Amino acid sequence: MLSTMTVTSVDAKNHGKISALGEKVLGGGRISRDEALWLINLETSADILDLLSWANRIREKFKGNKIHLCSIVNAKAGACSENCSFCAQSSHYQTGSPKYGFVDPEPVAEAAEEAHKNNVTAVGLVAAWKGLNEGPMLDEVCARVREMKAAGKTRPDVSLGIIKSQRVADRLKEAGVECYGHNLESSRRFFPQTCTTHTFDDRLQTIGHLKKAGIRICSGGIIGMGETREDRCDLAFELKAIGANVVPVNILNPIPGTPFEKNDPLPVLEILKTIACFRFILPRQEIMIAGGRTVNLRDAQSMIFMAGASALMVGNYLTTLNQPVEKDLQMLKDLGLDPNWDNHGFSDQEESGCGCGKGNCETEMELATAK
Ligand code: SF4
Repeated sequence: MLSTMTVTSVDAKNHGKISALGEKVLGGGRISRDEALWLINLETSADILDLLSWANRIREKFKGNKIHLCSIVNAKAGACSENCSFCAQSSHYQTGSPKYGFVDPEPVAEAAEEAHKNNVTAVGLVAAWKGLNEGPMLDEVCARVREMKAAGKTRPDVSLGIIKSQRVADRLKEAGVECYGHNLESSRRFFPQTCTTHTFDDRLQTIGHLKKAGIRICSGGIIGMGETREDRCDLAFELKAIGANVVPVNILNPIPGTPFEKNDPLPVLEILKTIACFRFILPRQEIMIAGGRTVNLRDAQSMIFMAGASALMVGNYLTTLNQPVEKDLQMLKDLGLDPNWDNHGFSDQEESGCGCGKGNCETEMELATAK
């Protein structure tokens, strides 16, 4: 069982408040920022495990037992002009990570085939550069997306940095991109400590173009960069506000040579508690545990689902290794979770009201006006 180093007896008052907030979310309601801050500041393992059990119920209610699997291909590696302090691929730091230009069709086709074999819903082409403009590179990206789409093995996702023109987003949509990865990384307040070569607003503007083009949004962040618990909550509320469909939670894996190389790792219970708070704030979204999972959670990896995670990045990350896909698939099987999606249409994210059936329900009205 988990550590009993802290006072672990269940605090009846805390138990009552966690349950009330859990019931509220299960009933279709929303928690406030103050309520989320109260949850994320729970300290004892007894309270945190209580919180996880509610996050698990919320996941089961809104996501069932389906787990959405994604994998990524490093489609253009290293030598990035940006200075993101966590990133091995920035040209500002000496990290020894590989460098190469945009990938040919073959490695992408191989990744799609492998993903298909393992029930992975989507393969994302991720490029280490500032962003994408109109020109030959956009033509090449669109060609790779069309090839993936035509092969019909997996959903072709992309993560191609900042987009400053609506036309670029529209062309990606025309080529067949359904979902675009673009993390907010952290709260607006903490963002300047992660990167100074572009801004939080550059990222929001990109997301605006993508949404206008009708592309789904995969956006989350990284925890363990030195941000506060308040920053983590504010990131989750920001992701709710932008209508992110998939929310990757990465846990910093400090890369030697980067400014965050000496960051202390987050305690496992702190990571699980953060995932649970994300589930309370974002009950219908895919919460995907991505980079840094194996190195930070080790034997506690399977607890991410009890904490509310409903999606998993499988296969290797951009510059670091993950555990073998077979091991992840076995973990899901052991937990009775099902990665087998024929087609993920995100329809389970639509808020259709609280379902209480009462006329003049305040929750229903709140949901309706928030749309
Ligand atoms: S996170 Fe992306 S934009 Fe930032 S340095 Fe790395 S590759 Fe470049």
